[in-house]
Amino acid sequence: MPRDFLKGVKQKYDVIVIGSGLAGLTSANILGRAGYDVLLLEQHYKLGGMATWFKRPKGHIFDVSLHGFPYGMMKSCRRYWCQEIADRIVPLRGVLFDNPQFTLKTTYDRESFTELLQSKFGVEAATIREFFDTARGMNFYDDQQLTTKELFERFFPGRNDITRLLMEPITYANGSTLEDPAITYGIVFSNFMSKGVYTFQGGTDLMIGLMKDELEKNGVDIRIKSPVDKISTENGRVKSVHVGDREIECRSVVSNANLLTTIFKMVGEEQFDKDFVEDAKAVRVNNSSTQVYMALGPDDHLDRDTGDLLFTSTAENFETDLLLSRDVTSRTFSVYYPDTRPHDKRQRHLIVSSTNARWEDWADLDDEAYEASKQDLIETTIDALDKYVPNARERVIFSEAATPRTFYHYTRHHHGASFGTKFEGLPVSQALPTQISGLFHAGSVGIIMSGWLGAINYGVIVSNEVDQLLMK
Ligand SMILES: Cc1cc2nc3c(=O)[nH]c(=O)nc-3n(C[C@H](O)[C@H](O)[C@H](O)COP(=O)(O)OP(=O)(O)OC[C@H]3O[C@@H](n4cnc5c(N)ncnc54)[C@H](O)[C@@H]3O)c2cc1C
Repeated sequence: MPRDFLKGVKQKYDVIVIGSGLAGLTSANILGRAGYDVLLLEQHYKLGGMATWFKRPKGHIFDVSLHGFPYGMMKSCRRYWCQEIADRIVPLRGVLFDNPQFTLKTTYDRESFTELLQSKFGVEAATIREFFDTARGMNFYDDQQLTTKELFERFFPGRNDITRLLMEPITYANGSTLEDPAITYGIVFSNFMSKGVYTFQGGTDLMIGLMKDELEKNGVDIRIKSPVDKISTENGRVKSVHVGDREIECRSVVSNANLLTTIFKMVGEEQFDKDFVEDAKAVRVNNSSTQVYMALGPDDHLDRDTGDLLFTSTAENFETDLLLSRDVTSRTFSVYYPDTRPHDKRQRHLIVSSTNARWEDWADLDDEAYEASKQDLIETTIDALDKYVPNARERVIFSEAATPRTFYHYTRHHHGASFGTKFEGLPVSQALPTQISGLFHAGSVGIIMSGWLGAINYGVIVSNEVDQLLMK
């Protein structure tokens, strides 16, 4: 008999959280800690969503989205999780750029960028200061008409090389383009520039394990392999969720599933106002990604000078559209030294190459073409790695690729979106509870609320709103 993953669930909860990405986990934790009866339903057999890892024979363990986040994670994890998680957040100091326009190494903070923009790119100190202050002063309520391209043109007219330096990592980190509102750039860029790039020491498996312990301590009922098919409403209020033939009642729902899936598949457009449906239909999902996971042999060694995060490209000029092309010219290599998992006796060096990608380029390939494309991605990536890890072809003893189809498979995100939706998704996400009382969305959305820190912080904001509703 198949195992019943819902065995023993109660008839009714205060809150049901659908999905265990970082936003879902954080909402569940805060609401559980506040004393509410919380059920967390995850369709996959693991918690974490995109914040995940996988193991392969011979002791290889790969992180999927643990590449870098801003310092703000330390505070969010201390406040909304626990000190033990916050204490493991450590800086990554070796950020490398290598492209036909320039090659440089940086600690990726304001001080280092100011120095580079002056000495290498010949920009006046006053202009740099004004640019940083403008970016840092941006907030959600600002002018949303100004695009990132216009922002760069205002400060660094005609300087494609500076655009590349300022934009490439942010495009990688949240899929934003030069055509997106400048505030989506300014907020995220300034978060990074405050103190540089950080990572979680111990690996995603340890972090999610610690989060699970915390959730259990706070009484959250966690169920994996429990895909929610439907959210039922009654008289304009949330009533219950359906998992297969089971219906579980609740006072509120926090959906960490994709925004569009939540509206159109789980609830159904007939439950919303016409104008809201129009706005929701106009929301564009963000791009997806490809990755190549590579392991060096057990006795191999990489010099720390290789760097931690390598933004590499062979494209002559910087164009955000090129970053999505099937004809890959840009790759971000994350290098995982043995101290990524200090507790692991197998002192391995692993490298993950990531490139933003379009769903349409992979969705309709037949099995044969799909496998061939994946193999081609692996081979060309190992060739590209050779510049930074000499003799890469002989040294890489294991490799595997992930595509937009892989991300869809594991998260059910519309079009395998890595970073939720474009900017217009944020007001739609925020308006959900005004349409159906008790229905909330927390998860990567609107570029700003994406990435590890954005997702956690959105989970915090939404849990406060749920709390206010339930207190009424
Ligand atoms: C290749 C790649 C690299 C990245 N690199 C970085 C990085 O360096 N730094 C950074 O900060 N961010 C990075 N990100 C982005 C970051 O991982 C995500 O923004 C963040 O983890 C998303 O969290 P989330 O809460 O939105 O939910 P997700 O992680 O998207 O999780 C949603 C969860 O909902 C579950 N779910 C969906 N539908 C249902 C259903 N019907 N029933 C039950 N469960 C359901 C899914 O299975 C999943 O577990 C990267 C992402 C990718 C793909």
